[in-house]
Amino acid sequence: MSPTDEINKRRTFAIISHPDAGKTTITEKVLLYGNLIRMAGTVKGKKSGVHATSDWMEMEKERGISVTTSVMQFPYRDAMVNLLDTPGHADFSEDTYRTLTAVDSALMVIDAAKGVEERTVKLMEVCRLRDTPILTFINKLDREVRDPIEVLDEIEDVLKIECAPVTWPIGMGKNFKGVYNLLTDTAVLYKSGQGHTIQERREVKGLDNPELDQAVGSDYAQELRDTLELVQGASHEFDLQRFQEGKLSPVFFGTALGNFGVDHMLDGLVEWAPPPLPRDGGERQVAATEDKMTGFVFKIQANMDPRHRDRIAFLRICSGKYKKGIKLKQCRTGKDLRIADALTFLAGERDNVEEAYAGDIIGLHNHGTIQIGDTFTEGEDLRFTGIPHFAPELFQRVVLNDPLKSKQLHKGLKQLAEEGATQVFFPLRNNDVILGAVGTLQFDVVAARLKGEYGVDCRYEPISVSTARWVEANSERELEAFERKAYDNLARDGADHLTYLAPTRVNLQLAQERHPDIRFRETREI
Ligand code: GDP
Repeated sequence: MSPTDEINKRRTFAIISHPDAGKTTITEKVLLYGNLIRMAGTVKGKKSGVHATSDWMEMEKERGISVTTSVMQFPYRDAMVNLLDTPGHADFSEDTYRTLTAVDSALMVIDAAKGVEERTVKLMEVCRLRDTPILTFINKLDREVRDPIEVLDEIEDVLKIECAPVTWPIGMGKNFKGVYNLLTDTAVLYKSGQGHTIQERREVKGLDNPELDQAVGSDYAQELRDTLELVQGASHEFDLQRFQEGKLSPVFFGTALGNFGVDHMLDGLVEWAPPPLPRDGGERQVAATEDKMTGFVFKIQANMDPRHRDRIAFLRICSGKYKKGIKLKQCRTGKDLRIADALTFLAGERDNVEEAYAGDIIGLHNHGTIQIGDTFTEGEDLRFTGIPHFAPELFQRVVLNDPLKSKQLHKGLKQLAEEGATQVFFPLRNNDVILGAVGTLQFDVVAARLKGEYGVDCRYEPISVSTARWVEANSERELEAFERKAYDNLARDGADHLTYLAPTRVNLQLAQERHPDIRFRETREI
């Protein structure tokens, strides 16, 4: 198969949802269809006691939340699918935002009883930054849930995206009978109690087919016919272009727990979701099918395999092909690296690959030289634009329980900051070490990792910082002048950027008024 064919069959996506909507359960069924697991029910450690392949961190096992991001690659029909897992917990949302820069489409999972929830709204905003095409799966139809029409209305209203139902549910709860596919005019019948295996599809062709009445009962068949008339009049028809522009979402109904409907969604994904798209490389647009390999790092992760204790940089290939032994230039530093031992994630095996293509994710062993946002090419100077750092809202001062470990602390925090696990600030005026986070759980994770990976025992103390802003000026001179004047409130972050730490919002406002030439940024490009 030619490289272009390989690239065009890639489908790289992530799942966005509010906690508990069913992301883990759906991931499990997707892996079942991808032949990555033989029997569903083995992914999540929370209930079964068996730990998921993605549960790498001790912390995660203890808390039963997904802190890390993992990659799962598998063939489905004619496509090669890459599913990028995202942490479910809101405290790790930055990780999720960054992962969303590395996908070409996303699956939005909605709990049919709850409708649109807060996290989903946030994640949709992030997807919208790049107009990522969104598929929707409305889950838990095996329960008594809300009227599907109402749920679709809510999605359109709140998320401002058009909904095009591809399937429509027949009944719900105990009387969930299956779905009807509007595009193929076929009903697919549901049988409960088969959630752990792939079910053979039982289908009835044609909405007016009397067999449908027999299969689901004539009341349900009639109700379906009536509802569909309404639905077809009121909702949007599927439109491939509008989907690919991120304006319209094909909607599927089902129950992940009952393993029903997930395959319909996967069919839609491989058929309609785009293959790797051109990306903005700073200097120019880079097409996925170009010969030369390019890519960028969206995630750095430590300790994936406790036996190796290595740090892995996840690189999304944007164009061309990775071949074992390839020489790549790290554009930020200008250094060349020969990559002989990249990891791939095909079929769940963490193995050394010979080849990978645009759309795929490869893992590079990182000894502290690779940062999030780094662009790699075969020589050209490019810079893929990514999602920025967000100004943290929570701050703590780090206090060492063993003062002799200061060096290890600094090293550990710089590395954890590079990974995006936390943000770290070193005030100019003293030797304090200040951590910034978006969610409180991040602090616990950092303390646990400092101890486990760097042998540093520390605790936190409150500090009066209310917000941070990265500062920029038009010239070095202006910046130096500002540095002298605002010295007491300034710090350097883990990447050495000058940062203003404001004790109060009012203080920030005053500083901004006093220094109109200085830009106080809420985000920093990485
Ligand atoms: P996540 O937090 O989004 O990963 O959600 P999970 O996949 O862990 O699901 C949350 C809870 O909802 C779990 O108890 C699941 O068993 C349950 N659940 C997931 N899908 C379904 C479904 O289709 N029907 C029902 N009844 N429960 C479901």
